[in-house]
Amino acid sequence: MSDTTRVYSYSAILMGSPILLKLFVHDEALASRVFRLIKQYEDLLTVNRAQSQVMDINHAAGQRAVKVSSPVYALIKCAKAASELPQSAFNLAIGPLVKRWRIGFKGDSVPPADEITHLLTLTRHDQVILNDDDESVFLAQPGMEIDLGAIAKGYIADRVRDFLRQEGVAQGLINLGGNVQTLGMPEGGWSIGLKKPFSTAGAMIGTLDVENKSVVTSGVYERFFEQDGQLYHHILDPRTGYPVNNELNSVTIVSTNSIDGDIWTTLMYGMGVEKGCAALRARPDIEAIFVTKKKEVVLSSAHLYRFTLLDNEYRLTDSTV
Ligand code: AMP
Ligand code: MG
Repeated sequence: MSDTTRVYSYSAILMGSPILLKLFVHDEALASRVFRLIKQYEDLLTVNRAQSQVMDINHAAGQRAVKVSSPVYALIKCAKAASELPQSAFNLAIGPLVKRWRIGFKGDSVPPADEITHLLTLTRHDQVILNDDDESVFLAQPGMEIDLGAIAKGYIADRVRDFLRQEGVAQGLINLGGNVQTLGMPEGGWSIGLKKPFSTAGAMIGTLDVENKSVVTSGVYERFFEQDGQLYHHILDPRTGYPVNNELNSVTIVSTNSIDGDIWTTLMYGMGVEKGCAALRARPDIEAIFVTKKKEVVLSSAHLYRFTLLDNEYRLTDSTV
């Protein structure tokens, strides 16, 4: 970027995450409106408080259908579709397990196996009944709970991008706790850091240069606890009820829309490197960067961004070999 270009950064804590907005104009009022927009969506979608539209649905599980606002309905419909994909590790009805594990919250512990077996029966996404006519949602069994934690930030990042565009902003970046959405192409593009797992805050394995793209990372290091030498993280396998246990430390998705990035990080956790790369061959609009426990960085392909490796502890491998 040239010397005359200045970037202005605005930050807040929302949705339990640090939020960073970057603009090329100094506009506190615009930044406040962005943070207010994020908060409005958080208030509709959160399951970490007693009341929200999603919590209204959860409270009425097994009793009645609940009408929700159009954006909430659309997002739930999208989350249900992601859950119904073949072999999907994404499950919008995972709530009872997430609540029980409490990973990243006070009091997290490994639940007894019989409890997990029971809770799995309350996570059937085919029992999330949608009615397009009145935009209502009904959870068929008492105790069922929708959790949009794996998709909400991506959805909101896209809404922020749309809002900024509507306000005439040509270049900007929003980072919602690891969900990055970028607007425009400043000189030299946007350079997004790929976090080094289990390291200090600013440590990076490398950088991704993008223009008009979303970069979403989901890592096992984000929220976890350890018990008896075993690490338990926040991405659960809906088939077993336990955290996904495979070769991955993180997955990053580059795509146009952040909602796709948010969904596909979870899908990739379920598939692992090999199956994930195979699945992405049919989706040239979505690319993944896998970081494995063996310190390999595997790129499914790299047409939408340029990757630069910065940490020589890591080895860059091509998915095609
Ligand atoms: P993310 O940060 O996008 O990787 O999403 C992680 C969050 O999604 C967790 O904190 C849970 O709230 C929720 N979650 C965990 N496992 C799943 C899953 N298999 N499907 C859908 N949501 C999940
Ligand atoms: Mg996600």
